[in-house]
Amino acid sequence: MKPYMHVLFATDLSDESRGLAERARDLAERYAAKLSLIHVVEYSPLLEYGDGQMFPTALELEEKLAEQARTKLAQWGRELGVTSEDQQVEIGATKTEILRVAKERGVDLIVVGSHGRHGLGLLLGSTANAVLHGAPCDVLALRVH
Ligand code: AMP
Repeated sequence: MKPYMHVLFATDLSDESRGLAERARDLAERYAAKLSLIHVVEYSPLLEYGDGQMFPTALELEEKLAEQARTKLAQWGRELGVTSEDQQVEIGATKTEILRVAKERGVDLIVVGSHGRHGLGLLLGSTANAVLHGAPCDVLALRVH
């Protein structure tokens, strides 16, 4: 089997998913692959006027959430040995952004948790399921207990 070259770990930055990050890092190490991290601040169409323009407060809120996420992801990055160029915080629809970044960066393995905040009680959460269906490469869903 061809070794993986670039692993993308998508995280909701929850405490429960911190252990998954270690597993993604271990996996990348086994293949001597690059590891990248992505977190998506979910964009809500409810925060639009209706003509595509956002409420100013919504924009501020999004930017604040993105800033917090950058700080947390940077901390995870330091702990996992992932450089800042390989840490991405995007604003948008989670599935779309994960798939876009995976394609743009030539990722050959996307690692997600089997479920997170949206998928409690499900075998496969909505993000994991959507990524699996749209991915241009292999997807590994790590089971979250
Ligand atoms: P869920 O769809 O909430 O059940 O989440 C399943 C998995 O999708 C999580 O364990 C993460 O790996 C990934 N995921 C969920 N939300 C995000 C997010 N906002 N940014 C990046 N990855 C996410």
